[in-house]
Amino acid sequence: MKELNSMEIKFKAISKNESFARASVAGFCSQLNPTIDELTDIKTAVSEAVTNSIVHAYPNKTDGEIVIKVKLYKTSLVIEIIDFGIGIKDVEKAKQPFYTTKPDHERSGMGFTVMESFMDSLQVENNEKNGVKITLFKEIKSIKNDIKQLG
Ligand code: ATP
Ligand code: MG
Repeated sequence: MKELNSMEIKFKAISKNESFARASVAGFCSQLNPTIDELTDIKTAVSEAVTNSIVHAYPNKTDGEIVIKVKLYKTSLVIEIIDFGIGIKDVEKAKQPFYTTKPDHERSGMGFTVMESFMDSLQVENNEKNGVKITLFKEIKSIKNDIKQLG
């Protein structure tokens, strides 16, 4: 698969940046001419992953950071959401619907389930000392010929 375009952003892990992250990724991905539905799926999944890094990764820090990398291919895209926080104790457990370590903070434990259902695949790489890397993959079915100009 030939990479046609890529971008990377880094920002502070604070809730003010959640909408910035979602809009930035959506703006970048829009050059693949996704449908409104596909774009909504991407925004929703990115939103869940970024919110997780904001809410869970840095319980004792105010200067935590989040990195997002996006790679575009002819008919698909890969999005990585990376933090450098506390990591996840048990990834398999964390991915179960309704599992949350913050039940008293209005969390429903559905973030990973949402990411999995809105994207074609979800990969969770975790290092309890170095944080979490989420990789989201999605096929874009509405590709137009415009993208060929990039290649
Ligand atoms: P919701 O997403 O529905 O608001 P939630 O964030 O608790 O609730 P998930 O997004 O499914 O649910 O995440 C499940 C659990 O995985 C979290 O409760 C948290 O313990 C852990 N987790 C998820 N992302 C991270 C992260 N980036 N760093 C540390 N722990 C995380
Ligand atoms: Mg969540």
